[in-house]
Amino acid sequence: MIIVMKSGTPTEEISRISDEMRSWGLSAETIVGTSKCVIGLVGETRDLDPDQMKEVSPWIEQVMRVEKPFKRVSRSFRHGEASAVKISTPSGVVTIGENHPLVIVAGPCSVENEAMIVETALRVKAAGASFLRGGAYKPRTSPYDFQGHGESALHLLAAARAASGLGIITEVMDTADLDKVAEVADVVQVGARNMQNFPLLKRVGAQEKPVLLKRGMSATIDEWLMAAEYILAAGNPNVILCERGIRTYDRQYLRNTLDLAVIPVLRTLTHLPIMIDPSHGTGWATYVPAMAKAAIAAGTDSLMIEVHPNPAKALSDGPQSLTPDQFDQLMGELSVFGRAVGRWPEVAPVGSV
Ligand code: PEP
Ligand code: MN
Repeated sequence: MIIVMKSGTPTEEISRISDEMRSWGLSAETIVGTSKCVIGLVGETRDLDPDQMKEVSPWIEQVMRVEKPFKRVSRSFRHGEASAVKISTPSGVVTIGENHPLVIVAGPCSVENEAMIVETALRVKAAGASFLRGGAYKPRTSPYDFQGHGESALHLLAAARAASGLGIITEVMDTADLDKVAEVADVVQVGARNMQNFPLLKRVGAQEKPVLLKRGMSATIDEWLMAAEYILAAGNPNVILCERGIRTYDRQYLRNTLDLAVIPVLRTLTHLPIMIDPSHGTGWATYVPAMAKAAIAAGTDSLMIEVHPNPAKALSDGPQSLTPDQFDQLMGELSVFGRAVGRWPEVAPVGSV
């Protein structure tokens, strides 16, 4: 349920109403939008009568029910306004959100050694990326495939962060590793295979770093948003949703089916920012540029693209990785699309030299 306050409501009145709601056993969150302030209520609201609730204060403009099973992530919980995730990086704060320039994340599937991760970081940074991605802990279908270098790769990510000034996005698979991962990561990634790992969602929700929540490969949109709800319910409002392709019936030509229609759908359902990953979404480097452009046209807030200095030798996901030269070329092309939708950062990326 949400309480929409009249503009100009004194903050003491908002606190008074929130306290009253808490005394009824509800959780009350104040959300300050550009024009209005709303109080989002979660808990046993079924028996409450919106008309009667208006009596609580003359400053209340409207009381509305949030009809969806997800509350905190739902667009109506913020009275229709988008939220933005602000991320601290060594080069300054980068914001991902609907009303902000596009943010590009690039890097290898796995962190393989110091030379490759630092080289990739410097190249993608020079091309205009704001974040370096790279897995230290890798979820692999086969137990015999490369599993990631684990903790030692976290140190290599820290080195690449220091050398490039890029923010780091890396995956956590196990609650036991979260503290170590969050020490290095500017954004903690929860991968597709862990989208419904509820203990992990609760733990990333109880820490401070923003979370990139990838869509499970067979997850419905409601399941994905309910997974995000776990993170917000645990106290962390900074969640970015990443579409990375879903499993459909043709795997001969595409690894996954990149669901770009999800962008306009999510816009109606949630205020959370959106990232599109055309690398896992297609599985093939040759298809990445077309789908990256399509994602910008469809309104994505950010893109995640796998880049490897030598894809033929990559320890994971080589076929879908661009070379740094290909990434340079793609960024040039994306700038045309980004400008066409008014979302290409016109200034050099934060902290670039
Ligand atoms: C990855 O980002 O390398 C990864 C494993 O992604 P996903 O969870 O989307 O498969
Ligand atoms: Mn990968």
